Amino acid sequence: MKIFECDNCSYPLYFENLRCEKCGHFSGYSHTHQDMKTFTAANGFFNSDTDADVFKYCKNSGSGVCNWILPAREEIEYCLACSLNRIIPDLSIKENTEKWQKLEIAKHRLVYQLQRLGLPITSRSKDSKNGLCFDFVAKQGDPKVMTGHNNGIITIVLSEADTVHREYVKKQLSEPYRTLIGHFRHEVGHYYWSLLVSENQKILSEFREVFGDERVDYSHSLKNHYQFGAPSNWTESFISQYATSHPWEDWAETWAHYLHIMDMTETSNYFGVEVNPRVKDPTFKGKVDFDPYEILDFHKIYKSWAPISLVINSLNRSMGVSDMYPFVVSQKVIQKMNFIHNLLTD
Ligand SMILES: [Zn+2]
Ligand SMILES: [Zn+2]
Ligand SMILES: [Zn+2]
Repeated sequence: MKIFECDNCSYPLYFENLRCEKCGHFSGYSHTHQDMKTFTAANGFFNSDTDADVFKYCKNSGSGVCNWILPAREEIEYCLACSLNRIIPDLSIKENTEKWQKLEIAKHRLVYQLQRLGLPITSRSKDSKNGLCFDFVAKQGDPKVMTGHNNGIITIVLSEADTVHREYVKKQLSEPYRTLIGHFRHEVGHYYWSLLVSENQKILSEFREVFGDERVDYSHSLKNHYQFGAPSNWTESFISQYATSHPWEDWAETWAHYLHIMDMTETSNYFGVEVNPRVKDPTFKGKVDFDPYEILDFHKIYKSWAPISLVINSLNRSMGVSDMYPFVVSQKVIQKMNFIHNLLTD
């Protein structure tokens, strides 16, 4: 994620800011500019600090879940990210607003990144066959309601936005990492698999060489995975134990991981992160001074970023919290991410 700046006073702005914390001007993200804009309010209009543009906030800002802006003259009420919602939580239940806020923070960051990757983002309300939409639903004891993807419809179970519940599931499943943004990235990976891979025979056969043959029975594979777990040598070829269950899940897990790395590399670039540890092995030196979304060679991205993860983990350990990046990435996994990167940069 970029660091944004206030157009009025140059103070840094977070992606989620509704106001500049220094000068108090309003702020919001414009997906058409792919930038944060700042503005002042007068007579019900939001006037840009930089030019003659006049904005309005996305309708969901009224619920405290969105800070994206649209040109005031446009008739549409919802921003690109919010236009993807099909089912939102039941707001008559008090805790649901807070859960929805957390889901939207993750989803808006996802949409920002999909745009940076140059991926098509079409709401299902506009394309009922190939469009994308999100359902945020409560489980209410129904075992059939699960976080998942089905033909462009992404369901996220509301309880995943409850930190205590999520930590409990993480522990039960012995996962090293479980976050909302991780869920969004994983599920949207399934969607882009069907869009970018499934219907192109050449790409599909290359996919099978890297990830395996996805025609093997899916529900049988999952059942097997939950019964017997991952093979003992899974770290040699997979990013997670769950990735071993089926090539589709391997793709979605690796895709999510690729998105994690691209986002962290972009953030590192905007902060000018460079690490030069006092050790003899030169592979632990790293510097990100490029925009990863403009780099064709994934190995360059990975090599520059990997040493930075070591620093962040070490800082976390200094503070007594668990590793920010609890993964071991094998050469095989780097190859898989390289396949995704080549597909997206082609
Ligand atoms: Zn300011
Ligand atoms: Zn919105
Ligand atoms: Zn999945």
